[in-house]
Amino acid sequence: MILDTGSIREGHSVIRQAADLASVKNELPPFGGTIDCEATIDRNGSMLYVQLRFDGAFEQVCARCLEKFAYPVGETLTLVLQEEEGRSGRAGDDESADFYFNTGHQSVDLSSVIYDEVMTSLPLKPLCSETCKGVIPADGFEKQTVEQEYDPRWEALLKLKKNK
Ligand SMILES: [Zn+2]
Repeated sequence: MILDTGSIREGHSVIRQAADLASVKNELPPFGGTIDCEATIDRNGSMLYVQLRFDGAFEQVCARCLEKFAYPVGETLTLVLQEEEGRSGRAGDDESADFYFNTGHQSVDLSSVIYDEVMTSLPLKPLCSETCKGVIPADGFEKQTVEQEYDPRWEALLKLKKNK
């Protein structure tokens, strides 16, 4: 979601946007079209207090049956946007504001906080359903559970071993 702070007036306002998260899209799992965003904003001069609600669904692969399924992610975040000359974009972790903007940089791209939230919400071991029985062989006699434990760190370690 991109907020145009120049058009946000004093007091209370609500902005709805179907966000394509263009700036972080390539690093996220595929999602269907857009993410629904709603920003409830209270502006007091140079300070904008934003409640950001987003809802979307991201493609995941079930760790048991290996089928793709849509995993819903929705959160409400509280953000502070502050106008300050010479500063724009996302603030550091230890600052009181989350984003800065100024007269030369009025649009604030909130995609990076949505990205962080999505990545921490996605399960390490996605399951299409708690009762997923896993891959069922074509002969139907035996039910077999395929547990796919994928941890990129192991892959890196294995590569190191091979290279030695
Ligand atoms: Zn499954």
